[in-house]
Amino acid sequence: MDDSRSQELYGRALAVMPGGVNSPVRAMGSIGRDPIFIDRGEGCELIDVDGNRYVDWISSWGPLIAGHAQPDVVSAVSGAAAEGTSYGAATAGEVEIAEEICSRVRSVEMVRMVSSGTEAAMSAVRLARAATGRERLVKFAGAYHGHVDGLLADAGSGLATQGIPASPGVPEAAAAATTVVPWNDFDAVADAVNADPSPAAILCEPVPANMGVVPAAEGFLEHLRELATESGALLVFDEVISGFRVARGGAQELLGVQPDLTVMGKVIGGGLPAAAYGGPSELLRKVAPAGDVYQAGTLSGNPLAVAAGLATLRLLDRGAYERLGVLTGRLERGLTEAIESAGVADRACAVSMPGLVTLFLRPDPPRDFAGTSGCDLDAYGRLCRGLLERGVYAPPSQFEAWFVSLAHTEDAIDRSCAAVGEALPEALG
Ligand code: PMP
Repeated sequence: MDDSRSQELYGRALAVMPGGVNSPVRAMGSIGRDPIFIDRGEGCELIDVDGNRYVDWISSWGPLIAGHAQPDVVSAVSGAAAEGTSYGAATAGEVEIAEEICSRVRSVEMVRMVSSGTEAAMSAVRLARAATGRERLVKFAGAYHGHVDGLLADAGSGLATQGIPASPGVPEAAAAATTVVPWNDFDAVADAVNADPSPAAILCEPVPANMGVVPAAEGFLEHLRELATESGALLVFDEVISGFRVARGGAQELLGVQPDLTVMGKVIGGGLPAAAYGGPSELLRKVAPAGDVYQAGTLSGNPLAVAAGLATLRLLDRGAYERLGVLTGRLERGLTEAIESAGVADRACAVSMPGLVTLFLRPDPPRDFAGTSGCDLDAYGRLCRGLLERGVYAPPSQFEAWFVSLAHTEDAIDRSCAAVGEALPEALG
């Protein structure tokens, strides 16, 4: 694989950008290679600056549920751009996207748009603290809620990929106000919630995907709901990944548990920077200017991002979710068959939720972050490199998911699984 133009760009990037990238997981250091610079995307494929073509399994890490350059999305964005890119004043599109979100997500009656998942999580935490008059947070190891000071401990995703347990620069007080417990540990979370001082919020990814896909054990989300209600804490679902992906109304619809606040992102921006937090009107009315919990943004509800988000959401009808389910099932089965036919079922397994799959290099599905961390990370790096050589761009981190989009074809799935079948035995040695 010729990557000379990527190499040249990387050399220049290193001089002017930390690690040569604008977000750590793009650097590909954890899979033992230099980053690939992308020229363009087409449907379910990425084309790099050297002209190499890959089946894209990261889908911009979630937003591109409709695939690259989907015509309706492109036309909505170009139409909006032609009329001005930002006004700093209210628009009809913001009302429409808020109505669309509220009609889909059962626990959300009101919504505030922001520009990134980090900002949405940070703002939801502020609102939860204001509403409860408490400060402490309970979160789970391996869950990522953006790079918010108090939420970075044991945060999975890019931190786990880089082997960073907690970031320097986070004030001690912010870290101390967060209690981190293992995912799917019923007793540990009960102890953490019932300890003094009482928490403002229990935060979780209802479908965790930042330690790879590690679904909630039977009854675990219901347990969190009860603990929150009994202790007076708010249950905050971070649906930045699961929202509008695992079901029309997100994980809360799929799994039947209602949070107090929901953090959203990715799909609602359709590939442009948009995110949101929402919940019952009674809570959201505390946010300025309706209330005194301050939160604002120059580009919040930006017309281009709203146009892309609305165009994407409009594609996501019942039929689209059925199709996504079929494609996800085919990918999971194809990976499992590739594992079996490569004779490595004692060293690898595939786990899926609708629209999300992780290929874990361990014998059985992990139950928590410690389980994911026990995967063969060196072999995972070799696997990703082998896949890139075969035209498959899998997430360059064991702690992430393969993001299925409506643009993925059966052929692209089958080619990817065949590549896994070839690359796996080499990777596992
Ligand atoms: N929450 C979750 C569950 C995420 O997966 C992410 C990003 N991957 C975030 C929050 C942060 O979103 P952003 O990168 O847009 O700040």
